[in-house]
Amino acid sequence: MNLFFNLVIFIFGLLIGSFLNCLIYRLEKKENFLKGRSYCPHCHHQLNWSDLIPILSFIFLKGKCRYCKKKISWQYPLVEITTGLLFLSLFIVHCSLFIYIIACFLIIIFVILGAIFITPFLFKRSKEGKKSWDKFSLKLPILGEFYKKVSLTRFSENLSVLISAGLPITSALEITKSIIGNDVYEKIVAETGERVARGETISSVFLRYPEVIPAFVTQMISTGEKTGRLEDTLMDVVNFYKAEIDRTINNLTSILEPILLLVLGIGVGIMVISLFLPLFSIGLGGMEGM
Ligand SMILES: [Zn+2]
Repeated sequence: MNLFFNLVIFIFGLLIGSFLNCLIYRLEKKENFLKGRSYCPHCHHQLNWSDLIPILSFIFLKGKCRYCKKKISWQYPLVEITTGLLFLSLFIVHCSLFIYIIACFLIIIFVILGAIFITPFLFKRSKEGKKSWDKFSLKLPILGEFYKKVSLTRFSENLSVLISAGLPITSALEITKSIIGNDVYEKIVAETGERVARGETISSVFLRYPEVIPAFVTQMISTGEKTGRLEDTLMDVVNFYKAEIDRTINNLTSILEPILLLVLGIGVGIMVISLFLPLFSIGLGGMEGM
């Protein structure tokens, strides 16, 4: 049983080592380590899971890339084994403290993940909850702008496609309304549909909601309505926002990077200290005995 636990801890250490490798490599290259899968640094071929098993893959591939046969750096298995052994020795020497640190570490990660992913899920369970979440989410710092862009992209893309297909604008709005997925925008589009049926323009309705519909979008729609090329100006909005959304995702992950590094750094730091403390005290005890 003891052996089993030791093995589990060792493998856990190996996995953390593997993650550290990825971190070291991508930070060096100034790449985003949360995005995209791992690839060979020489031939840039994407690696599948069987190439990424700590140490074992290195042994089976005889230290060479499966695709281009170039040598894989010794740094990878070395970092993995070191972390694995560090974890194992820490576990043996300092069992309870080690478990305590790992637990704290996991709790921090779960709390962060929970805040990001579970909050909207809980909100959305009831109809009222979804409504208030949709309203609240647009007011969030950084994320609010992101949600707005996503909703407006969905709106513009669907409306453009439906108009191109020859649908009358009122039915196109009616269908688009149900696709947006945000209650705030659904209401605005519903109102737009009613007013357009009475002879108003889309842009004149959108003008009333500057806090959720940027002037840029209203302007583009207004231009499209005047020139009779609404489907084209809507696609311009889509293309512009898609680039913006990509940029926002990059920015968000680059904000997460230093936070993750900090958490990881503190974790490793505490482990190293708690590994060496007992060694020091053994050393001191030995000296006292002399
Ligand atoms: Zn390669």
